[in-house]
Amino acid sequence: MQEIRLKARAKINLTLDVTGKQSNGYHIVQMIMQTISLYDDVYIKRIDKPIIRLKSNLDWLPTDEKNLAYKGARLLRDTFDIQEGIFIELNKKIPVAAGLAGGSADCAAVLVGINKLFHLGLSKKRLMELGVQLGADIPYCILQGTAVAEGIGEKLTPISEGCPFCYVLLAKPNISVSTASVYQKLHLNEIKQHPNTEQMLFQMKQKNIQEMGNLLCNVLETVTIPMYKEIALLKEKMMTLGAKGSVMSGSGPTVFGLFTDKLKAIEAGQIIKKKFGLRDVLVTKIWNKPQHKRRGF
Ligand code: ATP
Repeated sequence: MQEIRLKARAKINLTLDVTGKQSNGYHIVQMIMQTISLYDDVYIKRIDKPIIRLKSNLDWLPTDEKNLAYKGARLLRDTFDIQEGIFIELNKKIPVAAGLAGGSADCAAVLVGINKLFHLGLSKKRLMELGVQLGADIPYCILQGTAVAEGIGEKLTPISEGCPFCYVLLAKPNISVSTASVYQKLHLNEIKQHPNTEQMLFQMKQKNIQEMGNLLCNVLETVTIPMYKEIALLKEKMMTLGAKGSVMSGSGPTVFGLFTDKLKAIEAGQIIKKKFGLRDVLVTKIWNKPQHKRRGF
């Protein structure tokens, strides 16, 4: 095999709670992660010249060691002494710096792809252990599906029932927020409403999308909403346009809404794009792993 093509899928957070802070500054979280159908195309090819070369459709995205996909390739090349060169091409469709883990998803796909292409024989668990060195969300992006993430996000419990199918409207305000600065500005003692993770998992099992909508909750909104009112306005608008619930994903600024009706989701997207003058408004879906792959790692 000389080349491989993979889909690097984005995630949303159905819940995001921060429960403490480690001495090294990392926050302790509890979040329900969910893969969605939106993906970047990742193409990997073996080349003779012993270099890592990265290309992407976004001319402003770094293509050197600052890119997480590059970092993933370098980690495996150096750890397993790969002598050949690696060419990676990213076709990015996941909005960047949006709270949708696009960079982590690309890195996860590169780790999985190089493992196959160079016959490294690494288990998923081993790839996840390697991936966490590059970012807390990378083990989840390797696992995919529905999972509870704890610790710094790397302790994962897969939820084998998965999330009930529904449509997901994504709307990214035209602003950039840095994940690190959002966590830095978070005041744990000022959080009034924490997500009810247990209840969310129960309603997910019941396939009750209406109740799940009511339980969507992200404590990082306490930082981002006072800074960017548009996040609250987008949530409200999605609700009046028929969403079962709406919340910010990750450290933002993307807001998503859950819809059971595809047409309503599309219409809401069109209205929101126009009203808020947004570039990135997309309707996608919940993505679950095939049934036989849902248990364990
Ligand atoms: P998370 O939810 O994990 O914080 P995010 O969706 O908020 O991630 P990303 O799209 O992963 O954010 O991008 C965050 C930063 O990482 C950007 O500033 C970008 O320059 C950098 N980056 C590095 N590699 C990539 C990549 N392959 N795709 C997108 N961004 C990347």
